[in-house]
Amino acid sequence: MITQCKHPIVKIVSRDEDAEFVECQNCGEIFDSTEFSDIAIEEQEEEEGKD
Ligand SMILES: [Zn+2]
Repeated sequence: MITQCKHPIVKIVSRDEDAEFVECQNCGEIFDSTEFSDIAIEEQEEEEGKD
């Protein structure tokens, strides 16, 4: 079973004209900050659905 990191703490590592890359301080994964927003929104929806 894989435990998915929820990236609770992220740091900006690179910034572009229309993109911003962040690094998770927990798992070290680097991703687009817009992608991170999508993930956060999805999780909120899931939590609300369960509750
Ligand atoms: Zn992470």
